[in-house]
Amino acid sequence: MALKPRPGPGRFAPAKRSLGQNFLIDANIARKIVDALAIQPGDPVLEIGPGRGALTRHILERSPGRLMVLEKDDQLAATLIAAQPSIELVAGDALKFPWPELTAEAGWKIVGNLPYNIASPLIWDLVSQARFASAVFMVQLEVGQRLRAASGGKEYGALSVWVQSFAAVELLFKVPPQVFSPQPKVTSAVMRFILHPAPPEPDNAKALAQTLKMCFQQRRKQLSTILKSKSIVGGEGILEGLGIHPSQRPETLEPERFQALANRLQKHFGS
Ligand code: SAM
Repeated sequence: MALKPRPGPGRFAPAKRSLGQNFLIDANIARKIVDALAIQPGDPVLEIGPGRGALTRHILERSPGRLMVLEKDDQLAATLIAAQPSIELVAGDALKFPWPELTAEAGWKIVGNLPYNIASPLIWDLVSQARFASAVFMVQLEVGQRLRAASGGKEYGALSVWVQSFAAVELLFKVPPQVFSPQPKVTSAVMRFILHPAPPEPDNAKALAQTLKMCFQQRRKQLSTILKSKSIVGGEGILEGLGIHPSQRPETLEPERFQALANRLQKHFGS
């Protein structure tokens, strides 16, 4: 399957800033991103935000079993589909996609050069609701560093704990602004996500989200103070029972500790 005719400069409407349209113009980087997904012939692939097709054409070269794309820009989507009718288009906002419909048996491989304004909420939902074989996303470097941050540093927060609770996160390589048109102001990073075999169950995940919200809204406070502020009775005992010192601050707790704390607090949240 080849994407024809090959889109060239001048064939498209100007880039829309509101949709985070910074198009990749370096074919080597595009190929490297798609290589990181290790697509085998017949694999089902989902691309988020195909835009002018910079990644799409490298995906098609690898003969996927099916290629579904989520694109909010109707004009770009129409151009892409006209050039390659076998692509399954889901027109609209990727943030509204029903992720639980992607099941483990299908073995989806997911890729996207994500618009900056949707990267964090999209990855939050996707790792916790979809089941997939692997995902490779280009994001702002600063977001990439938060996604894979280890406990103890200032980049470590709710996003790091949440995503790492569901998936192993790797920063594969950095990408400079010069390979995009228009050029963004920041460096980007290509990240790979592989889901853990036994991620938190839905009830535990709900409690984890509530625990993270409670803790990182007050990240400078000690954990015992945070629990007290939410009228959680016996907070110090709960923490000590989990081997957590009551004076620890949220950013010092590893994802596994947060999951254990969330499970223990589940009944306090009424979930
Ligand atoms: N993949 C192309 C590339 O690498 O050149 C385009 C990447 S561009 C950074 C982001 C793409 O996502 C654009 O095509 C934009 O229209 C699309 N987009 C923006 N917001 C979206 C959303 N909420 N849902 C789906 N697509 C979106």
